[in-house]
Amino acid sequence: MNLKETPVIQAHGLSAVFPNGNGGLHALDHVSFSVHSQEFVCVLGPSGSGKSTLLRILAGLLKPTVGEVLYHGVLLAGPRQGIGFVFQKANLMPWRSVLQNITLPLELRGILQAQAVERAQEMIELVGLQGFEQSLPRELSGGMAQRVAIGRALVHDPEVLLLDEPFGSLDAMTRERMGGELLRIWQKQRKTVIMVTHSISEALFLADRVLVLSQRPGQLKLDISVDLPRPRQESMRYTARFGTLAQQVRASIGEA
Ligand code: ADP
Ligand code: MG
Repeated sequence: MNLKETPVIQAHGLSAVFPNGNGGLHALDHVSFSVHSQEFVCVLGPSGSGKSTLLRILAGLLKPTVGEVLYHGVLLAGPRQGIGFVFQKANLMPWRSVLQNITLPLELRGILQAQAVERAQEMIELVGLQGFEQSLPRELSGGMAQRVAIGRALVHDPEVLLLDEPFGSLDAMTRERMGGELLRIWQKQRKTVIMVTHSISEALFLADRVLVLSQRPGQLKLDISVDLPRPRQESMRYTARFGTLAQQVRASIGEA
């Protein structure tokens, strides 16, 4: 990471207030941070602390009430091709096959069918779904559906990948495996990743940095570097350093 480079994402004093006929619901409060190219950042915080709201703002899907997001130093005014998004639920088109779900964003952009299929095949290999190209979403496990969603988000090669609790609905074992897969993809493709999770150990295992939001309205409570060596190994979860970091994050969430 080159700290002198312009950050890929700069969040400046982001606040979000939703109208509720009652003075407004204050979801996010003056949140500022920067994310550099190829950083892997995890966001943690209690439920309702504005994590999804923050991610939607970073995706250009929601305009902050106050503050601004700069993408490569330029005001972000709406969704950008360079910023991909994965939600908690895969949200696949039920009548489309795995392959067709992944080609969809390319079709919407008018890319030729043959090219779209070729590119989607690469994604299918990347996320490890070879042999399931023609399967329908209902034939897939939760983990496989999330792989499709990740493949779909990566298909137009976004520079930034935003993930909102992408493994939230998966069991613990699948979740760990998916985390490992995501690390592999990140290492191979060198994306900038911002991921919301509610798992402290998942965040520490994956991220270079962990941000913690306070109870609503979400304020940035903690921004720490995860100084564990890479590549990350399962055994690191049992090291003293991992334990110390986990304690620090847990304390921050606890007093959030
Ligand atoms: P988190 O993802 O951390 O659980 P959210 O960002 O989803 O939190 O929500 C933060 C707060 O903002 C919650 O109280 C939620 O009910 C409220 N909120 C989120 N989106 C909207 C919306 N579109 N309209 C009104 N209130 C919303
Ligand atoms: Mg959320």
